[in-house]
Amino acid sequence: MTASEERDQATQRHPWQWEEAEWRGVVERVRAGRSLKPDVWPQGARAAVALSFDTDHETIPLRDGQTGPGKLSQGEYGARVGSPRVLALLERRSIPATFFMPAVCALMRPQEAREYSLRGHEIGIHGWIHERNMELDPKSERDLAFRCADTLERVSGQRPVGIRTPSWDFSDHTLDISRELGLLYDSSLMADDDPYEILADGEPTGIVELPPEWIRDDDIYFEMDRYSPLRPHGMPRQVVGGIWRDEFDVAYEEGGLFQLTMHPHVIGHRSRITVLEELLAHIEGHEGIWYATHAEIARYVKDQAKRSTESSS
Ligand SMILES: [Zn+2]
Repeated sequence: MTASEERDQATQRHPWQWEEAEWRGVVERVRAGRSLKPDVWPQGARAAVALSFDTDHETIPLRDGQTGPGKLSQGEYGARVGSPRVLALLERRSIPATFFMPAVCALMRPQEAREYSLRGHEIGIHGWIHERNMELDPKSERDLAFRCADTLERVSGQRPVGIRTPSWDFSDHTLDISRELGLLYDSSLMADDDPYEILADGEPTGIVELPPEWIRDDDIYFEMDRYSPLRPHGMPRQVVGGIWRDEFDVAYEEGGLFQLTMHPHVIGHRSRITVLEELLAHIEGHEGIWYATHAEIARYVKDQAKRSTESSS
């Protein structure tokens, strides 16, 4: 029986009925391998900082079939106001960033995609229309991922080398598709604070994981559901100036990676971008910070790991 047949058989029974080989097989399908945290960052830097912006704009309501202008306008804010504000902030502080862009957004506003490229930022895959990968059959997921990569390349002039699955929704087939696309890295899995290599059924894949986390994502603190009785709304100074600042401070102490996931329609508001700039000023008050795109970090840590393997063999 193949590993995937064993998995299928396992998931048809209750987990407490699984044999050891079955629960091990499920867990080992996609796992964290060796840490790729380097001994030293470029130019002797002590910590790496990777800012990312998922330019979802209207695709979240579109993906859910919400076609009403009200919800769409909240996404439109991201393209119209949030994104220019984010670009201006990055320009002021000379920081390169990564923009994970659904293909539909690139088609809707090609100039925006080109602008990211022209200003030296990276563009990464973020689905066709922010689809939920776990709900797709493998063929559709593959088709949408390939179409997204081709569309981003055609519109922005940049061939993506990395993926962030929409909503970090990583299916049983996502890793195979990323390998087939020849991607350098993924930024959807959360098994560490620092970069690591992804294993598939125990075997190294060569794909670098740059782990995000919900606690380093603006969406969970600032978005709300109008019709939910629970409407949490984070205070920018408690989130950006509190939780994120502490995340950075410890990453700096450990000599690791500080990575953020933000959205122009969320972080781009006046009260939030102001505090983000305060956080960047706090970071810049530290010696030895390497600001880089996700692709630059993935390339660097993979290269360092290769060197240390070669020198030890
Ligand atoms: Zn997204």
